[in-house]
Amino acid sequence: MTFKTLSFVKKENEALKKENRFLTPRTLNSSQNPRAIIDGKKTVNLTSNNYLALADDPYVKRKAIEAIKKYGAGTAAVRTIIGTMDIHLELEKKFAAFKRAEASILFQSGFTSNVAVCQSLMSSEEDLLISDELNHASIIDGARLAKSPRKIYRHKDMNHLKEILESQEAKKARRKLIVTDGVFSMDGDIAPLDEIHSLAKKYDAILMVDDAHASGVIGRQGRGTVNHFGLDGKVEIQIGTLSKAFAAVGGYAATTKDLRDYLGSVARPFLFSSSQPPSVAATCIAVLDILLGKPQYLKRLWENTAFFKEELKKAGFDTGESETPITPVMVGDSEKAVKFSKQLFEEGVFALSICYPTVPKGKERLRTIVTAGHTIKDLEFAAAKFARVGKRLGII
Ligand SMILES: *Cc1c(COP(=O)(O)O)cnc(C)c1O
Repeated sequence: MTFKTLSFVKKENEALKKENRFLTPRTLNSSQNPRAIIDGKKTVNLTSNNYLALADDPYVKRKAIEAIKKYGAGTAAVRTIIGTMDIHLELEKKFAAFKRAEASILFQSGFTSNVAVCQSLMSSEEDLLISDELNHASIIDGARLAKSPRKIYRHKDMNHLKEILESQEAKKARRKLIVTDGVFSMDGDIAPLDEIHSLAKKYDAILMVDDAHASGVIGRQGRGTVNHFGLDGKVEIQIGTLSKAFAAVGGYAATTKDLRDYLGSVARPFLFSSSQPPSVAATCIAVLDILLGKPQYLKRLWENTAFFKEELKKAGFDTGESETPITPVMVGDSEKAVKFSKQLFEEGVFALSICYPTVPKGKERLRTIVTAGHTIKDLEFAAAKFARVGKRLGII
């Protein structure tokens, strides 16, 4: 099929290929397991966000199936029309309690949660959105859809954040919103939330934390970075995703009852995009049950994290500043990073290469994520393959 009007696309794709930015994702032929079949090959999977390894858990699957039997496959409506089922409300209540907030509101994804909140709160040119430079793309897009101007502070640089909060623009602003990832997705480092919170209080700014990689991972029972820093009840907005540790798809904002009701009346993704299938809500309720009732999952996740980081360090890799199960293996060159990932795959280990523009030039890497479901044997196997291929390519 050819259209003259689309002839430029081929050239655009060629340009992407030259920069190693043309994406051809690998395909799963199994569930998202720590040992998955990818492109027909058995691998140790170090690439998913399935932190608790519950995506294929029998109890979780049973609960999802029961929900399909009771409520059907989908909702066929947006929440504000007739797409709100009692199981959505049950999940919202449970997430509010989990995050020690008054209320929570579900969205279709973590991405739309960020868009919904940024756009709804930053609704005037008199507002000011203040964002860490390494925040997730969905926060960047949320900021773009907001009516307010935005200021970007250098990654975790509290002096720079303070400078912005003391600027004329901030002083004049009707409202200020500071937004940060709780755990940064490419480096696995944690935002200094205690310091950000102090600044937010001092300068009267609203604080919003995106805990996509922290919920179900850090804090007591996986409650996230707010809990990790002892700030329960002190942060205005906590964003979470249902797509990582919670093994389904969706997102939420945990906040005050007033803001929950406001978002439910004005947030465009809530008003104009349909609600999640009931099986998704059931999946998340089941994951929450496990998280709150069985501490061994988190324990395993963190034991595996410590073990794998140590193995990579022993082999001589630069693993950056990570403090979480996300561990980057720095390469510093896009071609080499792509080659590293390919050769590891041939040896039965899947770790994705991450290149510019997702990370700055010179910071190309493989990103690894261990889960609670990996065995020590899996991780020893993977680390040995990393060392072997890393040596072959001159990375260590
Ligand atoms: C993954 C991620 C998101 C997007 O979540 P989805 O539910 O997949 O849309 C948002 N923010 C951060 C920080 C993330 O890492």
